[in-house]
Amino acid sequence: TWVQVREGLLKRVGRNNFVTWIEPLRLMGLDDGVARFEVPTLFFGDWVQRNFADHIRLRLTEAGSPVERLEFAVSNSPRPPLKEVRTAAAPVAKARPAPAEEDLRGAPLDSRFTFDSFVVGKPNELAHAAARRVAEGGPVTFNPLFLYGGVGLGKTHLMHAIAHELQKRQPGARVLYLSAEQFMYRFVQALREREILGFKELFRSVDVLMVDDVQFIAGKDSTQEEFFHTFNALVDQNKQIVISADRAPGEIKDLEERIKSRLQCGLVVDLHPTDYELRLGILQQKADFYREQYRGLVIADGVLEFLAHRITTNVRVLEGALTRLFAFASLVGREITLDLAQDCLADILRASDRKVTIEEIQRKVAEHYNIRLSDMIGPKRLRTIARPRQVAMYLAKHLTPRSLPEIGRRFGGRDHTTIMHGVRKIEELMATDSQLADDLQLLRRLLQA
Ligand code: ADP
Ligand code: MG
Repeated sequence: TWVQVREGLLKRVGRNNFVTWIEPLRLMGLDDGVARFEVPTLFFGDWVQRNFADHIRLRLTEAGSPVERLEFAVSNSPRPPLKEVRTAAAPVAKARPAPAEEDLRGAPLDSRFTFDSFVVGKPNELAHAAARRVAEGGPVTFNPLFLYGGVGLGKTHLMHAIAHELQKRQPGARVLYLSAEQFMYRFVQALREREILGFKELFRSVDVLMVDDVQFIAGKDSTQEEFFHTFNALVDQNKQIVISADRAPGEIKDLEERIKSRLQCGLVVDLHPTDYELRLGILQQKADFYREQYRGLVIADGVLEFLAHRITTNVRVLEGALTRLFAFASLVGREITLDLAQDCLADILRASDRKVTIEEIQRKVAEHYNIRLSDMIGPKRLRTIARPRQVAMYLAKHLTPRSLPEIGRRFGGRDHTTIMHGVRKIEELMATDSQLADDLQLLRRLLQA
């Protein structure tokens, strides 16, 4: 069946590809060696055809439905993915309400995201320890566990690891993992189908609820409301909740205050940007894995160090680089040397060399503090404008190689001593003003992402 095929595909194409390209596919028909899918857009179909058609054909054929060709049609009624998952999973039982155990299934778990495969370093040791603690499944000590950090730092990996571990230790436990987006889709679907009671019942019946990327529900009022009630009901029953987001609870814009404060009630831990040692550790682990897969491939000394040094943006990119490198080397049957790496990864290396510009800094800072971009270079001395301007000067000094006079020119022709003063001011304030320190950390992250 398509469900099994999908599970097989998850393993083949990896979780990211799966979520983006496979999950939204709706299998509409399967006959005469043609599998027909409904897709959201033409481009989508085209992309799947070009990149995943072989995988899909192979898996379908293995599952007993020989397929030679895939056809894609654009669906004219856009539907949320979760609905699609469910109808695709049980096409015959469409009319009957699915049993609760069926519904309990959240997003698929990536079997590779375990504690064993998670490399621990300084930047993530706290998050890892907290996740381990939750995964032990003992009495609830902090609720919720709130994990936050930039893209690709391992939030989803840790959440899946918790789910795997809990399932192993307590096979009967009702563990529900899903993204905030899916939470919303299920909620909207329940509203539409007048099954809101069932929805409430379901979410209140779990032992552990994990919601990934909660920033997604910011600004979505009724979903927030429902999330808040679900959250409270579970906390009252002493059920563990694990939440992730790309920033700290207090930093999520358009999230209700009461939710922010609820989210801060438990343990809030930060996954910091990776450092060199952690990146190298992750690369070494991956390389061991690939050496096994591509037997006989040799990787020269210094290549992993080079990558850990040069690709600093996020772990996903780092992994992608290594995957490509091994695939390429095995294709051309060559040893992986520095030269080969530089050739094969030229685009990635160039992208991660990308320098932050003063204009970008000014734009992001203005956005963050809700002031006009023109005020960055304008003459206004009002504190609410002057302070953000100084923040931008500080960041320009620290994130770009520009000299003070150069920075002064970009700030409307200010003198270099004015810039110096601004930078010093921020350095001074940062020591005592924790809000400012948080702002800076967030801005740095946004700019260097
Ligand atoms: P996030 O959810 O924070 O955006 P993910 O959990 O999806 O990030 O991680 C992105 C990729 O990087 C995944 O393939 C994950 O396995 C890998 N990764 C991130 N951190 C680590 C780590 N400490 N050890 C091993 N792999 C990691
Ligand atoms: Mg994630």
